[in-house]
Amino acid sequence: MRSQETGPGDGGAYSSPLTPDSSLLSRAVAAYLGLALGDALGATVEFMTPREIAARHRVHDRIVGGGWLNLPAGQVTDDTTMALALGRSILEAGGVDAHAAARAFDAWMRGKPVDIGNTVRRGLLTFRKTGCPVMPESEHDAGNGAAMRLLPVALATFGRSEAEVAAACRAQAHVTHHNALSDAACVTLALMVQDALAGFDKNALLHGRAHPLAARHPQFTFRAVKQVGNPSGYVADTLVAVFQAFFDTDSFAECLVDVVNRGGDADTTGAIAGMLAGALYGMEALPRHWLHALDPQVRSACADQARALLDLAVRSSPQ
Ligand code: MN
Ligand code: MN
Repeated sequence: MRSQETGPGDGGAYSSPLTPDSSLLSRAVAAYLGLALGDALGATVEFMTPREIAARHRVHDRIVGGGWLNLPAGQVTDDTTMALALGRSILEAGGVDAHAAARAFDAWMRGKPVDIGNTVRRGLLTFRKTGCPVMPESEHDAGNGAAMRLLPVALATFGRSEAEVAAACRAQAHVTHHNALSDAACVTLALMVQDALAGFDKNALLHGRAHPLAARHPQFTFRAVKQVGNPSGYVADTLVAVFQAFFDTDSFAECLVDVVNRGGDADTTGAIAGMLAGALYGMEALPRHWLHALDPQVRSACADQARALLDLAVRSSPQ
């Protein structure tokens, strides 16, 4: 990790992580497609219990749509469409900007999305009234709605200092969620994505990011606790399920199948797990039949944005 003993700052293999070689680009695209795949896969079983999923599907491992939103096969939900809206705002503004993000989310809400979280709706209605893209701090806003959409920030700030990455994460998050646990989750996830993009392995993500998060905030403890089933939209519940699935499996597909079959907020756990697993395992690990099942417009929007955001990171990076 940066600023730790294994970091690129020590002149390791990634001492110039800002040259977007093909593997970096492939991991960035895989992270974005992974987000969309996890969302599309998980939406089918969102709000179901593991027992209900097993009764209906045995193991749910196909992108078939349906679910409580009655989606066409391959369609995604707010997790992916908010990320795409945020990414467009970053590209248009030339960087992460809270006002631009708030306007983009507001326009997204006017487009009548298939689903929207309560905290997101409240934050955007407040922004419409006040024009202020920073919600007041609230201990109640520890939902996963800011974490699910942060990938464009992680891509656009690749190569920046951890302080800059964290500030950008908080700026986008606070448009709707101003909460210490949500912030901690967002910053950790963004840094995990960036570490994976830079070529660090799963052990580095575990010891450099996930365990330190749990040490700072015990709500995120995911080892030596029982397997989380039916994870809620509470960001700690979400991340514990995601970390258990991500760290205890060895492939992109296994990770996503594990996490969505836990049910609960399955589109969001799927999206976050898919983002991490895509960044870690890369394009070759994404099952072709899942990619074929994904809505083609979503697929190309995600891939195009991943490239453009990484390009922005490289162009705007301090030399
Ligand atoms: Mn959703
Ligand atoms: Mn959800």
